[in-house]
Amino acid sequence: MDRRHFLEMGATAGVAVVAGEKILAQAMPATARPRPQQADPASVPVRTTQLHDNLYLLQGAGGNMVLETGADGCLLIDASFAPAVPRIREAIAAVAPAAAGGLLINTHWHSDHTGGNEGMHAAGFTIIAHRLTRERLSTPQPMRLFHYTVPASPPGALPAICIDQSLAIWRNGDSIEVAHFAPAHTDTDISIHFLKADVLHVGDIWFNGGYPFIDEGAHGTIGGMIRAGEQVMALASASTKIVPGHGPLGDRAGYEKYREMLIAIRDRVAAMKAAGLSEEETIARKPTAAFDEAVGEGFMSADMFAGIVYRTL
Ligand SMILES: [Zn+2]
Ligand SMILES: [Zn+2]
Repeated sequence: MDRRHFLEMGATAGVAVVAGEKILAQAMPATARPRPQQADPASVPVRTTQLHDNLYLLQGAGGNMVLETGADGCLLIDASFAPAVPRIREAIAAVAPAAAGGLLINTHWHSDHTGGNEGMHAAGFTIIAHRLTRERLSTPQPMRLFHYTVPASPPGALPAICIDQSLAIWRNGDSIEVAHFAPAHTDTDISIHFLKADVLHVGDIWFNGGYPFIDEGAHGTIGGMIRAGEQVMALASASTKIVPGHGPLGDRAGYEKYREMLIAIRDRVAAMKAAGLSEEETIARKPTAAFDEAVGEGFMSADMFAGIVYRTL
């Protein structure tokens, strides 16, 4: 992982800590902790990259966001952490000064993607998500790996429209296909594909450039992550722009390499587990070693990821 990318991943993780998530506070290796000035979501600037005529990638605190603008109103994918809402609204105003409200789709329930829901709802956005995103946001969610329970969200943060399997939206001259993944990173994951622009947001199915976090408390598994990859590969063509939940904009070839890495690590850990090794013994044998130099330690350390793979096999 190059330095810029490393810092991006670290910033994401550190933001979680400051946003009250306490995520990774103890668990993160010191080398992956963010620089202090990157830690406050309210002060992390949102970088805007045009992906198509009226489609933009917004990258600041939390997960990657996509914004579609036009006469039908804005459509925003994901909403970062609550304190980032003013930064998101500034970024929207910069490309769509007359915009007032619109639709907000959550890729999944995690607070680095839904923390801004309440603020964006107050700004006139109607929230759409998988039915289980609404369920998980409605009740406290223990995150065992981080020794932390995410509290229930306020009513204004809850999705008003829920999907089970798929949804089609026609807006601003594009058709947008929303599809549920079987449990992978969580059981709430959906993809959003802007067909005309050929931009596909896959949420945290892809941590581009880092080992993924997999939410065991929400039925996430390494096998599910790999199976979800088949769906990503089927949806994308060679020219599709794929927006990962974290890390830089990618494409099908980049995603394929990532999925091959997940398969290789899964196979190594599975062989060790089948040979009777404990989780600790497996981690000590460094099953990710072939990838550690390239991937490094971002949001997830190699050891934490190896543990997740072992436990969810
Ligand atoms: Zn995320
Ligand atoms: Zn996530």
